[in-house]
Amino acid sequence: MPYLEIRNLEKKYKNFTLSASFGVEEGEFLCIIGPSGSGKSTLLSIIAGLEKPDKGTITINGKDITGERIQDRGIGMVFQDYTLFPSMNVEKNIQFGMKEKKSERKKTSDALLSLVGLEGYGKRSVSSLSGGEAQRVQLARAIAAKPQILLLDEPLSALDAPLRKSLRASIRAIHDATGITMLYVTHDREEAFSVSDTIMIMHDGKSVAMGTAEELYRHPEDLFTAFFTGEGTALPAHLVYENTEGYVFFRPENAVIAEENLDESLYPMHLVLKGAEIISCEFTGSGYLLGLQYKGYPILSESATKPRRKTVSVMILKESVLNLA
Ligand code: ADP
Repeated sequence: MPYLEIRNLEKKYKNFTLSASFGVEEGEFLCIIGPSGSGKSTLLSIIAGLEKPDKGTITINGKDITGERIQDRGIGMVFQDYTLFPSMNVEKNIQFGMKEKKSERKKTSDALLSLVGLEGYGKRSVSSLSGGEAQRVQLARAIAAKPQILLLDEPLSALDAPLRKSLRASIRAIHDATGITMLYVTHDREEAFSVSDTIMIMHDGKSVAMGTAEELYRHPEDLFTAFFTGEGTALPAHLVYENTEGYVFFRPENAVIAEENLDESLYPMHLVLKGAEIISCEFTGSGYLLGLQYKGYPILSESATKPRRKTVSVMILKESVLNLA
């Protein structure tokens, strides 16, 4: 049995139904990604106890907590908006939920401040903190209560991009130092790729895929997952293989172009699409991302050099082509 088990969970709103069944191992870092409105926050709110499910159960470490009060669940939360107590200094905020004896609290809060990279900040007022610092204090406060599970709902989305990058690395480091099981909601796939052990993709209130970033990127089982995890091309399969249903899908880095007229029979390992027109050419630093048209369908391909011709062949290694429904 997984450490956190969500079984047959269901929550109905007027125009929306959330249903979820999944497990998370102890110490796992799970990222939950999906478009806006797919039910990520609702799922976290139900696990936290802020919302009641219509059906289903939530167990942590074998104990059913579905009906438990919020404060008895052993769950910590960090949200996008800073919810620090403005009348208390940083240290008092962190010590608020601590279970330690009074005499030990100072030592623990100092250790937590150093863990989140804010050594010496204890006596500062909360209102003097920058956005990134406030999020670090929130993290320290959540961890201070020794939660069994920490839920993070878009904790970095109010911060600018460089700060988001450095803080996400800190969050992962804190995870590794404490071993706390974390569920982290984000709409940013790059963020999810960089911090997670496992990713769950949500769409229309359902989990559509779960796996490591590499598994979901390289072997998506459906088009939604394929496009949500990165760029790519989907072509109706019958354009490429006769009498085949569904779509063929490939990533831009698995498609190269050939500008010369080539003899297909010399490339049995490749799918060769002849007569593709280059529509756009974008410099990416490491090379060029090409937008092409093939029989009326768009194709993305990478090229190390800038193409000289307009009409080219696209070559895709067959083993990297997926057949998706
Ligand atoms: P996400 O976090 O993925 O953006 P949410 O969980 O916030 O998605 O919302 C999912 C859907 O549930 C939305 O369509 C939203 O309108 C609906 N919803 C969430 N909370 C309520 C509520 N209290 N009453 C009615 N509908 C709600």
